[in-house]
Amino acid sequence: MAQHIKLREVGLRDGLQIHPTFMATQDKLAWIAAEAAAGMREIEVTSYVPPKLIPQFADAGEVTEGALQIPGLIVTALIPNLRGAQRGIELGVHKLNYVMSVSHTHNMKNVRRPPEDSITDFRAIVALLREQPAGRRPIICGGLSTALGCSYEGRIAVSQVVRYAVQLAEAGADELVVADTVGYADPVQVRAVFKAVLAEVGHLPVAAHFHDTRGTGLANVGAALDCGITMFDASLAGLGGCPFAPGASGNIVMEDLCFMLDSMGYETGVDLQQLIEVRKIITQALPDIPMQGALARAGLPQGYVTAAARAAMA
Ligand code: ZN
Repeated sequence: MAQHIKLREVGLRDGLQIHPTFMATQDKLAWIAAEAAAGMREIEVTSYVPPKLIPQFADAGEVTEGALQIPGLIVTALIPNLRGAQRGIELGVHKLNYVMSVSHTHNMKNVRRPPEDSITDFRAIVALLREQPAGRRPIICGGLSTALGCSYEGRIAVSQVVRYAVQLAEAGADELVVADTVGYADPVQVRAVFKAVLAEVGHLPVAAHFHDTRGTGLANVGAALDCGITMFDASLAGLGGCPFAPGASGNIVMEDLCFMLDSMGYETGVDLQQLIEVRKIITQALPDIPMQGALARAGLPQGYVTAAARAAMA
């Protein structure tokens, strides 16, 4: 049996959040439906933040409700605070992705409080979730942003990452995601950070979130796989630039990640050809958004047999 890798599409959140043009709600829902049909099991569909802060997410409620209609899809939303968690509970979203920055400066700039206060807020969120009846209680993911580098502070000490990972775990996180928010990481660093984190909180599922800002994204996935990580975030067409590096590429490209994993013999559940087709929805809806992707440009290798087909023949 091939090992299964859990993938989460984050383009609708990470990819769209700094894009100035609003993507129509119906286009977002068409994207979600098409990618779910291609085999994507989890999609971070939006962020529960005030619309005046990020107008792109003004339709968060509609997008969540629409996505929840798709059978079998895990619908996730990012939340920066308790208010976001309340919103998610009201909407019935499946998973909340609470994000705080390991970097003190980045957390101050992003959510105007030190990381310690973000941990306190996280405890309040977990308490609120535990009051909800079973079946109406979203899964809570603790996200560690800037864990592999920060635009203000540069390298982040591994001990800092581990410290907040442990605090989120002790506060009641169901799972964690360790993120290279600004694309500074390299494979050696990835091994050091993920090994240290897994040594302390390996009892929880831990996901990796990489950006390909400097071309190290898929190499970092390889390093994380070596550490035993089996959950990855990525975005279709690599949407998601960096606010500190105008024109830079964004998240790792979902299509390229799926191809690499499939090629290595991992099972992703995603149909590569069908996934590439989903790009058309984005191109049509947002003709000005930069699209990345080596697999989409090159196509599958001649005579390529997918991991699923190889398994069926075996
Ligand atoms: Zn990101």
